[in-house]
Amino acid sequence: MKDCLFCKIINGEIPSNKVYENEDVYVFADIHPQAKVHMLVVSKVHVADMAHTDALTDKQLSACLRACAIVAKTCGIHESGYRIVNNSGADARQTVGHIHFHVLGGEQLHERMG
Ligand code: AMP
Ligand code: ZN
Repeated sequence: MKDCLFCKIINGEIPSNKVYENEDVYVFADIHPQAKVHMLVVSKVHVADMAHTDALTDKQLSACLRACAIVAKTCGIHESGYRIVNNSGADARQTVGHIHFHVLGGEQLHERMG
């Protein structure tokens, strides 16, 4: 989608530190990491948030979760543990309107999630 930051990252218009890609997802390092490891798993299909996932196939949506597990292994945090976060909408303080999943780890995370 035109003027979408993550669409521009996926198509290479804006640079990113890519760690993984397949036909459904694009994964790169968050520019403002909130943990020692902080990756973003982004669906290649532009939908705004979880409220719009009817526009994704089950394969496209599950590929996001599968990619979280793959990238956790790539980053070496699959055994120590990690957190997967999806901010969906204003109350969750979503800032980029293209569905994505944060993978956070590499250290012990805060007890509180919200
Ligand atoms: P959210 O607040 O859940 O919408 O998450 C958006 C995330 O995108 C934030 O953690 C930002 O730090 C991250 N972000 C914004 N711009 C970039 C960029 N150009 N490259 C990598 N990560 C970015
Ligand atoms: Zn987009």
